[in-house]
Amino acid sequence: MDIIVLSHEAAEEDIRHIIKRLEGWGLGVHVSQGTERTIIGVIGDTSKVTEEEEDSIRAAAGVENVVRILKPFKLASREFKKENTVIDVCGVTVGGRRVPVMAGPCAVENETVLTSIAKKVRDAGASFLRGGAYKPRTSPYAFQGLGPEGLKHLAHAREKTGLPIVTEIMDPRDLEVIVEYSDIIQIGARNMQNFRLLLEVGTCRKPVLLKRGLSSTIKEWLMSAEYIMSRGNQNVMLCERGIRTFETATRNTLDLSAVPVLKQLTHLPVVVDPSHGVGKRDLVAPMAKAAIAAGADALMIEVHTNPEEAMSDGEQSLKPEQFEKLMQELKPVAEAVGREI
Ligand code: PEP
Ligand code: MN
Repeated sequence: MDIIVLSHEAAEEDIRHIIKRLEGWGLGVHVSQGTERTIIGVIGDTSKVTEEEEDSIRAAAGVENVVRILKPFKLASREFKKENTVIDVCGVTVGGRRVPVMAGPCAVENETVLTSIAKKVRDAGASFLRGGAYKPRTSPYAFQGLGPEGLKHLAHAREKTGLPIVTEIMDPRDLEVIVEYSDIIQIGARNMQNFRLLLEVGTCRKPVLLKRGLSSTIKEWLMSAEYIMSRGNQNVMLCERGIRTFETATRNTLDLSAVPVLKQLTHLPVVVDPSHGVGKRDLVAPMAKAAIAAGADALMIEVHTNPEEAMSDGEQSLKPEQFEKLMQELKPVAEAVGREI
């Protein structure tokens, strides 16, 4: 028993009674008030609920139907919520008709460079500024990010441009400060299965951008989204950023088929990051266009005013003029699939 569909006549009293019984069995609930009907999503290990107990809920006042979800993820599934989730971030929506673009450097390097990049991407039409203050680097000797100082630079750039901020969290201990400075919290590919981090981020209500793990299946990825949602934060967007394959011509293999697959399996918005997907500047634009054609709800693109000098991911960062050109080229693609940039 995973979803309890309530009838139109269900009274507050009936709903309270059902919730109390579920909680008595050690289960949690997520009540979703749809336009058509109210649904109670049951959170926790429902396999322990006996058939008799399930029948008693089915027979309770105000209950129209009790449904078992066969997929291991529930709150994230289309079965649980048919309509697409649209996340409002400071007035910019992700998951609606418009396809917003998140752009900026891989890492926050200093205030001047960041603000200059922010202004350029805003003028080109970006809706969010991205930039890492805490960087997950393969080598412990590589630049690890500016930490709290970087967050302050992001806040300054937001003040100057009005662009909401997307920035990565790596450690649950940084949650408070990241919630304070960010508008979307990014969980990077390397932390997709850091379950403690997922649960911690689930306790806040900030939108979360959950990147796909380097070698994770779509099912594992959705289970990670479920971790966040199970703690109450339903504002999750999924970001395809390429997976590991045998191919070495590109940094990763951008799995664009994940976009339509996710659209079938989940109601959550899907973001595509072609920059990390391909790892090479020249390949970013064609894959960004393909991502929109495939149904992406937003894009994430790395841009740097001086990629040769960038402290990380310079080879895949677009120069501002290349980004501006791409933004123009994306317009007819979006229009062709009933969206707008
Ligand atoms: C990033 O966005 O800069 C980043 C580190 O991405 P990923 O986690 O996808 O590698
Ligand atoms: Mn990067």
